[in-house]
Amino acid sequence: MKILLVDDARSVAMVMTSRLSSYGYDVVLAGNGQEAVAKFSSEAPDLVLMDIEMPIMNGFEATNRIRAFEATQQWAWTPVIFLTSSDTVENLVTAIEAGGDDFMSKFVPEPVLQAKMKAMNRIAGLRHSLTQANRKLQDLASQDGLTGLCNRRSMDLRVDHLWHEAVARKYTFGMLMLDIDNFKKYNDHYGHQSGDDCLRAVAHTIDATVRQAAESSQDTGAFAARYGGEEFAVIVPHASAAALDGLAQGIVLAVSTLALAHEKNDAWGVVTISVGGALMSPASGAVVDLFRQADMRLYQAKQLGRNRSVTV
Ligand code: GH3
Ligand code: MG
Ligand code: MG
Ligand code: MG
Repeated sequence: MKILLVDDARSVAMVMTSRLSSYGYDVVLAGNGQEAVAKFSSEAPDLVLMDIEMPIMNGFEATNRIRAFEATQQWAWTPVIFLTSSDTVENLVTAIEAGGDDFMSKFVPEPVLQAKMKAMNRIAGLRHSLTQANRKLQDLASQDGLTGLCNRRSMDLRVDHLWHEAVARKYTFGMLMLDIDNFKKYNDHYGHQSGDDCLRAVAHTIDATVRQAAESSQDTGAFAARYGGEEFAVIVPHASAAALDGLAQGIVLAVSTLALAHEKNDAWGVVTISVGGALMSPASGAVVDLFRQADMRLYQAKQLGRNRSVTV
């Protein structure tokens, strides 16, 4: 457990630090409220022991700011215990009203301090497991189970956010719709299990190609998602026509180069995909129109013979 100890009196800070350290806890010190707020965000302590009377910023104000900072974080709640010189009822009420969770005399007897810290340490352990479990759940809820790509739901959420950003920054927004060619025949010929393996391999290749493009010269902020069935989408929040077309061609080539046997795929003999792409300035239209246009071009790519992209 990491404890942020806030006190302007050096003697108090020194005594408390040596006691807390002797119980095996890490102690980070702050000499006033302002320093406490800064250290709170940089050190992410598990517990705050907060003096009330301090120069520059008092403990109540610092706690207010810490609570405001926590409100911007997910699942954040850190216990704050006020350190007082007198444990009057009035002090207790004020401390709780100010966003504190408890209060404690600076001259608290050794066994009481040790017992309180033990209880706080238990809470800190529980909070860590809860945060980890929440992160895991959030990852699972945003991922497609078969391919590990972003799922439709989280793609929609991200597009919503990125679209607004593109409006504000006057970016041109791009997207690709991708669809495996003759995939029904693949399933019919090789079986559904192999179909799933094929979907995973294609998804991985799309994702890798998008990442490579991001690592090379132009980072467009692009990401891939499973749109549904054997259809994928690539969102390119900050796109140029040339970059979008280059990415589309790159993905088509990368998938055919995988050379996954597909006897029933027309002339190719390997798994291929078709891609439709569209670009739009968010100020001039809605995201549904962008998707519709990409979808129309995907249809064109299919009509033109598959294993190709159409982006203009
Ligand atoms: P086209 O070249 O015109 O795209 O033809 P297609 O056969 O790929 O298109 P169609 O939409 O007729 O068939 C899509 C197939 O994708 C049908 C469905 O069984 C298969 N499919 C969709 N989702 C999954 C999945 O999760 N796993 C497997 N194995 N197959 C899937
Ligand atoms: Mg003080
Ligand atoms: Mg389809
Ligand atoms: Mg298809």
